[in-house]
Amino acid sequence: MEQRIEIEPIIGPRADVALMAGYYSPQIEVDVRLNTNEAPEPPPPDFLSRLQERLTEIDFNRYPEREANQLRQAIAKHHGVALNQVYCANGSNEILQSILLAYGGDGRFAAVFEPTYALHSHIAQVTGTSVVSGVRNSDFLIELTEFDRVVHECEVQSGSRPAVTFLCSPNNPTGRLEPFETITGVLERSSGLVIVDEAYGQFAPRSAIDLLAAHRNLLVVRTFSKTWSLAALRLGYVIADSEIIDALWRVTLPYHLDAIKQVAGELALEFESEMNDRVERIVAERVRLVGELKKLPLRVIPSDANFILFQLNGGDAKGAWQSLVDRSVLVRDISSLPRLAGFLRVTIGTSEENDLFLQALRDVLA
Ligand code: PMP
Repeated sequence: MEQRIEIEPIIGPRADVALMAGYYSPQIEVDVRLNTNEAPEPPPPDFLSRLQERLTEIDFNRYPEREANQLRQAIAKHHGVALNQVYCANGSNEILQSILLAYGGDGRFAAVFEPTYALHSHIAQVTGTSVVSGVRNSDFLIELTEFDRVVHECEVQSGSRPAVTFLCSPNNPTGRLEPFETITGVLERSSGLVIVDEAYGQFAPRSAIDLLAAHRNLLVVRTFSKTWSLAALRLGYVIADSEIIDALWRVTLPYHLDAIKQVAGELALEFESEMNDRVERIVAERVRLVGELKKLPLRVIPSDANFILFQLNGGDAKGAWQSLVDRSVLVRDISSLPRLAGFLRVTIGTSEENDLFLQALRDVLA
């Protein structure tokens, strides 16, 4: 008689995935939305009308150009690098995921320095990469001695050094720009890749892109979501050595970048001076906002990004966040993240939005 084998059904997710928390940032309807570091202004009207024209030229029944050559060429030209040093994906988060798919995984480690962008360790875990964490100093900057400690801990734990080190500069959520000496120090001490996440790079006075020629293990990640006023587009890119870019293509799904995105990204780069004007306006508003916040009973962290981190003096950040929402102002409550008790983060908006935020915050603190 035929014997029936009982097979345990697999209906749950991977055990480690089941334990993960997904991305959470409330999308609440308010008048003043300053919680996700987007650009406060829409793209220039001329960009939108020219995009409409370009969309009519797309063969929508055909798959898009697989390697997005025109878009990548435009980005390469923008940064003065070669075409084979540029790789694009659907937002810089997907870039980070591709890097970890290619260079992370089982038995490999990614180093992060808290507090930093939570998605770095989250994406590492999703790709089966183990995470080793260091801490930033009291000014939220990375010390090379701390980097050495993390590498040592990784060696003791696993017998190997981190395959990938994340530096976020300017760092989210602190806004701090890492000094060049720190970045070059980490590059020189690393046997693996060093990812400098420059999602906020345009708001800062210097970029690690200048270090690419001298360091083969450096990857600089950028996005169209902030400066380019195109968060809805979901487009990011990385610049690195061509061998690294080759490896990223190996983990890429066919036709991963849709034709609309390719056209829109290429067109956006033609509006560089308009974008630079926006960056200038945001930086000027940031300087003004820091000045105003410093007049209040708060600890204000210096910022090189399009947001500001501040701590309520012994205050209840969650309560203050809710009181701001009650006044139709949404900022980011990050007070439950490691070492950020009492902290809130506000994105720089238009000057009207910033005034409304300031007024609401003054009311809340009064
Ligand atoms: N890196 C950092 C540091 C970020 O803050 C963000 C967005 N919050 C991203 C990457 C992801 O940006 P996107 O996927 O929109 O390009």
